[in-house]
Amino acid sequence: MSEDLQLQNQTFHGISVSEGIGFGKIVIYRTDFDDVTEYTIGPERIIDEIDRYSAAVNEVNLIFMNNQKRVAREIGLENAKIYETYHMILDDPFFQDEIPSAIRAENKNAEYIICSKLSFYEKHFNTIQDEYLRERIFDIRGVSRRLIYHLLQGEYPDQVESDGANIIVARELTPADSIHFHHKSLKGLITEFGGRTSHAAILARSMEVPAVVGVKDLLKKVVAGSEAIVDGSEGTLIVNPNQEKKNFYLLKKEQYARRAEDLIRGLGIPIQNLPDRKINLLANINEPSEIGLAHKYKADGVGLFRTELQFIAKEQFLNEEEQFVIYKDLIEKFNSKEVVIRVLDLGGDKFLPFADLHRESNPFLGWRSIRILLMETEIFKTQLRAIFRASAFGNAKILIPMISSREEIIASKKIIEEVKAELAAKHFDFNQQIPVGVMIEIPSAAIAIDSFINDIDFISIGTNDLIQYTLAVDRNNEKVANFYQPLNPGVIHLIKRVADSCNAHNIPFSVCGEMAGDPLYTQLLLSLGINDFSMQPVSIPRIKDVVLKTTAERLEAIRNKVDDCISVNELHEFLCDV
Ligand code: PEP
Ligand code: MG
Repeated sequence: MSEDLQLQNQTFHGISVSEGIGFGKIVIYRTDFDDVTEYTIGPERIIDEIDRYSAAVNEVNLIFMNNQKRVAREIGLENAKIYETYHMILDDPFFQDEIPSAIRAENKNAEYIICSKLSFYEKHFNTIQDEYLRERIFDIRGVSRRLIYHLLQGEYPDQVESDGANIIVARELTPADSIHFHHKSLKGLITEFGGRTSHAAILARSMEVPAVVGVKDLLKKVVAGSEAIVDGSEGTLIVNPNQEKKNFYLLKKEQYARRAEDLIRGLGIPIQNLPDRKINLLANINEPSEIGLAHKYKADGVGLFRTELQFIAKEQFLNEEEQFVIYKDLIEKFNSKEVVIRVLDLGGDKFLPFADLHRESNPFLGWRSIRILLMETEIFKTQLRAIFRASAFGNAKILIPMISSREEIIASKKIIEEVKAELAAKHFDFNQQIPVGVMIEIPSAAIAIDSFINDIDFISIGTNDLIQYTLAVDRNNEKVANFYQPLNPGVIHLIKRVADSCNAHNIPFSVCGEMAGDPLYTQLLLSLGINDFSMQPVSIPRIKDVVLKTTAERLEAIRNKVDDCISVNELHEFLCDV
């Protein structure tokens, strides 16, 4: 019996992170260089090894050309530009001369030589004299990864057939990997590692791709090319389904699609059941290609634009002009509706291949987000200049992530004022009164909110990190996923505290973490006085449905219950009952 047949109808279980049913063929995606081994090439085979390397360079060049055309067609010219750079890089003496010479000099295999040269340059990034090489190190990395995958005959995200039905199976996905999957054809994403609020999972939801994480040892058990079905709602993967299973899931898929259509019809209904309240359902945007989805689901604006993902997608820092074009386009596409642009939230699980970020042992507790910007002020100022200049074209707001104390707000605002003065001196047109808000995602900020509430214009509660930091649970780790409990009384009390303080001081506030897009929590958040919910566009119809069906009495009952709730289960049961 073939391995494929042994696996017929075999079902794997994991954590459900993105709803929907997907049918497709399994593509194994390798996400790191762990598979690169070092071996010696005898002198008689050195020419063959160099030929193997040169053939890979030519083939990858061809793939870049095809990708450039495809990405330009499907995602846009801007995103396709990276491939022009990649062509140039492949023509660089680094790939044309240095690598083949090193293969010959060291008698080692090509993939190993690429890896060792690359890590040498990355380690000495700050000391590289050659300016061209220094500027190009991020691109060289991108191209090197591509070449290594090719030499190892692995899958690479942009190699996934754009017209095939692919279910990606990976050990783990980084946001950079997921963002490359902004493909129409993707039918599912399954990983061995990862949590519900990891950025890779968030991206899967925003792409409306069914996804499951935390499926143990999956890579050892599935075969590339096998037929499979993903049920993102149940958190299951069925490999080699028989006809009965296929029929069952086809029916389920149809029911799911019908329900989605019903919900979309509700988007046209005004919310009038909550007297004296104006509820706004806003979009979290990770990628400009999601703007269309936000409009499709009638978002009231953008409550969170994760700017760092643009940098990650291109594997490099974007200059002021490049950023300006992205922000202006986003702002204009929402006319006068608000667009909250969050300044770079790098670190944690969102790495750029630079500096020492990835070497920290606790990256979520380390050099992350505003901590980086306050030290690397040129990066911060470049981004602020781009946002300010774009602010002339609509209704933009600036959001500062990962604030833990008033001092960070004061330091950030000082830099903001310097940038304003600089732009004014150069007679740029921009909104002098642009609102500046902060994210509440660290418990200290929630507890001490009154110490800085008068220094800011608005608040956005980032429940993804707030839960992680309050409960000391890594949001990316499937092993502790059971401890990641949004209904923990400690978490709810912090959210309530922030909401009460904002209401008392008349400061606008919203929730932009994943709780805002999960219908289980909608009434609870409404009961705490939250009116602005920012979420993946695809979640808007379901949240709107809950808002339309609730009543002021029900919300009051929940609010009363919150104060004396002492356990997660008790609150969970109560919310399911009301
Ligand atoms: C959050 O922490 O809730 C949030 C919205 O930010 P991110 O998920 O990007 O960390
Ligand atoms: Mg966060």
